[in-house]
Amino acid sequence: MTIPDDVAQDLLSSMEAMRLDQQRLAEKVSKLLVPKTSSSPEGSSPTTSVAPKIDSSKSSDLSTYYPQRVILTTYPSQHGVRPEPLTWGAKDAKERGPVIASRHAESIKKRNAIGAYGGSYCIYRALAVAIGDLPNNHRPNFEMTEPTFDVLPNDQWFDPTKIVSLDPWGHLAPSVYKAEYEKGLDVRPTIAVTRAHMTMAEMEMNVQNGNLTVDGKVVVNKRGDLAVSKAAVEPVWYLPGVAARFGIEEGLLRRALFEDTGGMYPELITRPDLKVFLPPIGGISVYIFGNPAYISDTSKKLTLRVHDECNGSDVFGSDICTCRPYLIYGIEECVKQAQQGGVGVIVYFRKEGRALGEVTKYLVYNARKRQAGGDTADHYFLRTECIAGVKDMRFQALMPDVLHWLGIKKIDRMMKHDAIVGSGISIIERVPIPEELIPADSRVEIDAKIASGYFSSGQALTDDQLAKVKGRDWEDIEH
Ligand SMILES: [Zn+2]
Repeated sequence: MTIPDDVAQDLLSSMEAMRLDQQRLAEKVSKLLVPKTSSSPEGSSPTTSVAPKIDSSKSSDLSTYYPQRVILTTYPSQHGVRPEPLTWGAKDAKERGPVIASRHAESIKKRNAIGAYGGSYCIYRALAVAIGDLPNNHRPNFEMTEPTFDVLPNDQWFDPTKIVSLDPWGHLAPSVYKAEYEKGLDVRPTIAVTRAHMTMAEMEMNVQNGNLTVDGKVVVNKRGDLAVSKAAVEPVWYLPGVAARFGIEEGLLRRALFEDTGGMYPELITRPDLKVFLPPIGGISVYIFGNPAYISDTSKKLTLRVHDECNGSDVFGSDICTCRPYLIYGIEECVKQAQQGGVGVIVYFRKEGRALGEVTKYLVYNARKRQAGGDTADHYFLRTECIAGVKDMRFQALMPDVLHWLGIKKIDRMMKHDAIVGSGISIIERVPIPEELIPADSRVEIDAKIASGYFSSGQALTDDQLAKVKGRDWEDIEH
């Protein structure tokens, strides 16, 4: 699309007017924030008695926290604003360039990403600074934090369309951008890689009933403790790539992100030169059973489960859905694959309640249980749509990115999910959950999902049959 000259001229003059407005605003803000002397004498702040966290010895003078004036970086042409170059998908870390999402004095004019490090946790960091627990210019010491196993550059990293929602160099940032960090740039890792043991009651039962055998390596003892390698991944979105993945224009994606974050990120609109966004959403946990080096080795068998967070079931054992049974069954299958000389991977996405959030999810539970005729499979998605407007917001299009980061090329045994095959990874066998692991009350969910094509296996019921699949009423529980 070409923009007519007069429209372009209009846009340019609006931008210039906004830039001048902004300059005036920045000056006003600076004046407002000049150091003030506290009106109450030291140590007699009236709030200390009701707010125990407040330390009256700490200064309330803003300039102690932020000695420099407020720098707004809303427009690309501002004095000295020169983002570090980023070439998404480049084969070399230096050529790709570090992702910088920091407002530290040394980094603010070189920032090349919108948002902040730490995902949604950046808000807690802000609180820690505001209450004086953390200096605003704190620089982490990354000594001894290196990954415990290798996730090395592979061809999938170098295709700018294959990985668009995380930084494949994220776990290597402290080493590959060490020189930049030492020069003062606040470059932080967005991925961490470690290892641990895990204990789950179901695994102990599995050892007791002979379903799992203790081998001292994957199942380490009779209690069913499992040895695991794991990674935590924070989202880093390359906006042109994310837009292309969903088949939309980058400008539309930026506008939607700007509007539906309540205008929190004006740079989405005003800084088209910044192509990377660190969204304030949950990340991904990767759990690996067996040798992590086998993940990208096509001669080894790989079992994979992709799991979206369901706190109610995964952690607290709610029986209204099949999430924890699926997760546990997935872990068992991964462990068995590892014991047979392959490797198992669980990828856990923080997308609570189909990415609608837990508040929406509980509202849906109430509506399902209260609707005329009770909680039936034929109305399962309708109740979600009435509240959220859609039945699902997980949009699995971005899901395969983490598999490409790990170097996965084929999956031998896969539980759930269709989005992977289109991304160039082949799935050899899809594994359904055994019937006996499905809780009675969750039949409503599973039959509704089979009928709407969530799973390729399992018998799809007719509308009449779905109406007869009914969940437990509330009347059997004291409320
Ligand atoms: Zn669930």
